[in-house]
Amino acid sequence: MSQKSLHNHYPIVPPTSNFKLMEENGPQIMARGKGVYQWDDKGKQYLEGMAGLWCTSLGYGNGEIAETAAEAMRTMGFAHMFSGKSHEAGIRLAEKLEQMLPMDDSRIFFGVSGSDANDTQVKLMRYYFNAIGRPDKKKIISRHLAYHGVTLASGSLTGIPVNHALFDLPLDGFLHTDSPFYFRDAMDEETEEDFTNRILENLDELIQREGPDTIAAFIAEPIMGAGGVILPPEGYFPKLRALLDKYDIFLIDDEVICGFGRTGNAFGCETFDFRPDTMSMAKALTSAYMPLSAVAIPESMYQAMIDATAEHGVFGHGFTYSGHPVSCAVALKVLEIYERDNVFAYAAKMGSYLQQKLQHFSDHPLVGEVRGTGMIAGLHLAKDKETKSFFDPAGTAGAKVIAACVDNGLILRNLGDVIAICPPLVISEAEIDELVDKLGKSLDGAL
Ligand code: PLP
Repeated sequence: MSQKSLHNHYPIVPPTSNFKLMEENGPQIMARGKGVYQWDDKGKQYLEGMAGLWCTSLGYGNGEIAETAAEAMRTMGFAHMFSGKSHEAGIRLAEKLEQMLPMDDSRIFFGVSGSDANDTQVKLMRYYFNAIGRPDKKKIISRHLAYHGVTLASGSLTGIPVNHALFDLPLDGFLHTDSPFYFRDAMDEETEEDFTNRILENLDELIQREGPDTIAAFIAEPIMGAGGVILPPEGYFPKLRALLDKYDIFLIDDEVICGFGRTGNAFGCETFDFRPDTMSMAKALTSAYMPLSAVAIPESMYQAMIDATAEHGVFGHGFTYSGHPVSCAVALKVLEIYERDNVFAYAAKMGSYLQQKLQHFSDHPLVGEVRGTGMIAGLHLAKDKETKSFFDPAGTAGAKVIAACVDNGLILRNLGDVIAICPPLVISEAEIDELVDKLGKSLDGAL
């Protein structure tokens, strides 16, 4: 295809707020990548500070992973997991995950994306509570600003207005409570502990109002990514866990961004000290070289499903590409590299360095708060951090910084007025210096 037609015929660009501009200019076309760098079709080099969409943890152009995928394609391009069939890569991957996960006993269901993993979570909750004769226990509580995907169910779990507006979401049975957004929402003089107690009292009231027997689960990302890199305040998760236990409500841990080393431990729930009942994983599970998601559920839930199929017949859920053998082979290789090269420990060490360097922006006139842990961070822009006067929530200031980043050869992402930073876990110290230097120039350029 010629260069011209590449720019003229392209799929709908998700998500964009300016289709008109897109029609005129065409999308930016990325041509290749190596390590933490990408090049566009005009040859301009960028440091990829967002790991794609929080996912390319091992960076670009990894020959070892490419060889693994090629070999898996040569051996068997496809095998499904329907009607009693499976394949070696899928079985080995499920075993490997079961060993790694911070759950006592788990069973794995494979899908393709983070959205379908969370859709599966919703469906499994329904199936399970119907199967054990508690059909009223179905509602799911999520949080405002959460991001759990965009299908009808996962989009209903998501708590970001643009993902709801015009799509008639959320569907019935999906409730939203406060996000733990201390920097934005804490009242004057309120400590992190007081703030946590206040929003969890609101949650307690919501549960009591709806009736605990009608609520199946609460879903949470350890760090809320797309909502603005929101870290839980002190004590939030242990207290949340205790509250959910009191009412016999499952805690679904969405590790789609935080899983596999991003927060400095293998999983975000380890960093923030809570025990999940079920988990969703995707993205860094394959370092984004192939699409794959995984849902982990406890053995007790799996046993209830076995009993239910004996009574009701086929378990009617699964995707053609559930546990695609090439994706599973790639995931096994990626997990092997994480282990062999101590990638999580490396990310924890380099993450401290990154956070320390980013703290220098705390005094920048555009920056209200620098927050983050491990290899994920957000710069929350503010007009005045003392009075908490923010720029317009549509993200005009954030977009200006990102435009300057593009000029300076740095890829980051603005989530409204939060600049998200989430580089590949394998970034070196010198590359972190480069990222921070280019970000500093971009902030100054946007003043
Ligand atoms: N869950 C979280 C925490 C995410 O950040 C995302 C995507 O960014 C998803 C789920 C949805 O994943 P996908 O885009 O693969 O459907």
